[in-house]
Amino acid sequence: MQSYGQASLPGDVYSPSPQVLMRERIIYVFALILPFLGAIAACWLAWNCGLGVVDAGLFLILYVLSSLGIEMGYHRLFSHRAFKTTSVIRFLLALFGAWAVQGPITYWVAFHRRHHQFSDMEGDPHSPNLSGSGIRNRLAGLVFAHIGWFFYPERPNPARYAKDIYEDPIVIFTTKHYFLLQLSNLALPALIGGLASGSLWGALSGMIWGGLARIFLVQHMTYAINSICHVFGARPFRIDDKATNNYWLMLPSLGGSLHNSHHAFASTAKNSLSHWWELDIAWGVISFLSKFGLVWDAKVPSKPVLASKRAV
Ligand SMILES: [Zn+2]
Ligand SMILES: [Zn+2]
Repeated sequence: MQSYGQASLPGDVYSPSPQVLMRERIIYVFALILPFLGAIAACWLAWNCGLGVVDAGLFLILYVLSSLGIEMGYHRLFSHRAFKTTSVIRFLLALFGAWAVQGPITYWVAFHRRHHQFSDMEGDPHSPNLSGSGIRNRLAGLVFAHIGWFFYPERPNPARYAKDIYEDPIVIFTTKHYFLLQLSNLALPALIGGLASGSLWGALSGMIWGGLARIFLVQHMTYAINSICHVFGARPFRIDDKATNNYWLMLPSLGGSLHNSHHAFASTAKNSLSHWWELDIAWGVISFLSKFGLVWDAKVPSKPVLASKRAV
């Protein structure tokens, strides 16, 4: 992750030094295990003490904000440049995306663009479809695409895959201060929980529900798009890879699980392109903001372009 603060490496991929690799792997383990423990603690709290309005509100609001940061910000805005928006909204999306604890924007964008370049082929950093046939291999592929790929020593070169976004001072700022932003990620729900209840216990449960447990859910929702949404679901558009539209996940992923539509038209701001009932909350927010002039140049495929890729 450290090397994602600069953009001067040669080549398409690189491997960090053994020391950096070890440090990064330790960070990944903590970034995965702490939210997991937080989710267990939240279940224990709910079972023994119930779930209060403040904790539920913190969980829900911060879940929606950090998911928007990933799907609308890291993904559609920074990775695909699917729309344009103001500096304030760009900053907020970068901040909310950092709160999902999936790495700095430069890291996320480099991996994601390489994923599109080599989707489900050799070179894809997190395909679930390259581990062979048979239930065991298929399962191993799903686990690798979900969380195993973090630990793989090969990284896409940010100088090759994310050079353009290094020109954005918001990207530089949030990448440089990524770890500092994690403090706000936990301190904010703790502060609100503490103030609302007037107790340290309220601060702790606010941090567990609005912080750790919420991070756990938003992390695995995104990772499910890499794993589940390249295996299970519908394929309404003809594409060269195995991406699917998974309708079970479209609400909690804010439209991100309409992944077949996204792979078919990667640079568009709208994923709900196949059926009228498809839920794409990220697109709902983009089109809502565009009515007030806060978003512009949102790309959406025309009807003939859509028709040209329909599977049936
Ligand atoms: Zn994909
Ligand atoms: Zn994408």
